[in-house]
Amino acid sequence: MAKEVVIIGGGISGLSMAFYCSQAGMKTTLIEKDNKVGGSFASHQYASDNDRFWLEMGAHTCYSSYQNLLGIVEECGIMDTIIPREKVPFTLLKNGKVSSIMSGLNLFELLTHAPKIFSLKKEGKTVRSYYSQIVGENNYRNTISHFFNAVPSQPTDDFPADMMFKSREKRKDVLKNYTFKNGLQSVALTIAERKGIDVRTGSAAQSLANSDGKYVVKTADGQEVSADSLVIAVPSAPAARLLQDINPAIADHFTRLKFADVDSVGVVIRKNNVSLKPVAAIISPNDTFFSMVSRDTVPDDNFRGFAFHFRPGLSEKDKFKRINEVLGVGMEKIEHTTTRMNVVPSLRINHKDWADKTDQMLAGMRGLYMTGNYYGGMAIEDCVSRSHDEFNRMNR
Ligand SMILES: Cc1cc2nc3c(=O)[nH]c(=O)nc-3n(C[C@H](O)[C@H](O)[C@H](O)COP(=O)(O)OP(=O)(O)OC[C@H]3O[C@@H](n4cnc5c(N)ncnc54)[C@H](O)[C@@H]3O)c2cc1C
Repeated sequence: MAKEVVIIGGGISGLSMAFYCSQAGMKTTLIEKDNKVGGSFASHQYASDNDRFWLEMGAHTCYSSYQNLLGIVEECGIMDTIIPREKVPFTLLKNGKVSSIMSGLNLFELLTHAPKIFSLKKEGKTVRSYYSQIVGENNYRNTISHFFNAVPSQPTDDFPADMMFKSREKRKDVLKNYTFKNGLQSVALTIAERKGIDVRTGSAAQSLANSDGKYVVKTADGQEVSADSLVIAVPSAPAARLLQDINPAIADHFTRLKFADVDSVGVVIRKNNVSLKPVAAIISPNDTFFSMVSRDTVPDDNFRGFAFHFRPGLSEKDKFKRINEVLGVGMEKIEHTTTRMNVVPSLRINHKDWADKTDQMLAGMRGLYMTGNYYGGMAIEDCVSRSHDEFNRMNR
């Protein structure tokens, strides 16, 4: 009889795990709380009459170094849907004006500090302590730190420097950075539609139990799924709540991990109603939003789309007021809006110790596997790599 696995969470971590398990012939069930798979790796789709448009509300860029992701894309037969991203600039909003990143840097300070990049080690240093030495304290504080904060949409001064941007081996036959013809959602959907994966969306895992040597997952909508192996692929807070039922010690360990909610608002506007020059993103130091990421990297004939990633706790009125100001467009010109709440980990300098301890605790638990964006890092490739490693552990 085929081995059974139940995976909780249908973001790229859970989906990649489902891919590996189904490919190995396992009976794979994936439970996802939302009505669609993808999590932070999902695109919002907008259709109007004959026009279709998509907008990334979370991740937006993949790289040639995403070897495990590319392996899955290749196996799924969708390499031909990889498309380049238009070369439009990442910009800075200063005194109400959109300008280049360079305009925010003191070149003398940069040039006198930059050579340290060859000798200074990232290990054991925070983002602030490492990068303020590489670009200079003022450049870091006034400009560069805001670009770093935009990556996980939260302050990153205390993040471990070696976990922010990792150098990985690149595939030379793939574009350096890219997206997919119909957005990242198309990759999530392709994986979810694979033979051997039973995807149950709109179903939140509510409790866990052990029974007759199997894991039993009960969902909020009354389903019960049992399997030999259980994979938890949800953010650390819901993971802790679920783990409480089967192992309070590991649940307690998970409550120690900090995280941030990313409150995102997307707007779709007819092209002729926006005069802002095409940009990849706008970063506005000390503003109410960490970044505005645009769809100008994949130009559309009719629409432009902008995703604002706000600090938590703002009212709808304040968010839209700021969107109107930044884009120079009134509400009457906005054709469509969408919202999304993503969760990202707040990594700290001792994060590797936390992850090692997790693995030690998991080693003592039969059939339990954990993946997500809070093990080796939060990039898409880190999630897929963690799933790959956990899948290999399952098969040892
Ligand atoms: C704004 C933003 C921009 C980013 N940009 C990039 C980028 O350009 N490139 C890059 O490499 N990375 C990027 N990232 C990081 C990357 O997208 C994420 O780290 C990654 O997608 C996380 O995947 P995940 O599956 O671990 O978690 P998630 O995507 O959060 O998925 C977890 C899933 O679990 C589900 N869930 C939660 N609780 C339950 C439950 N009880 N039962 C069932 N399901 C549940 C959730 O609904 C969700 O779908 C970005 C992240 C954000 C937020």
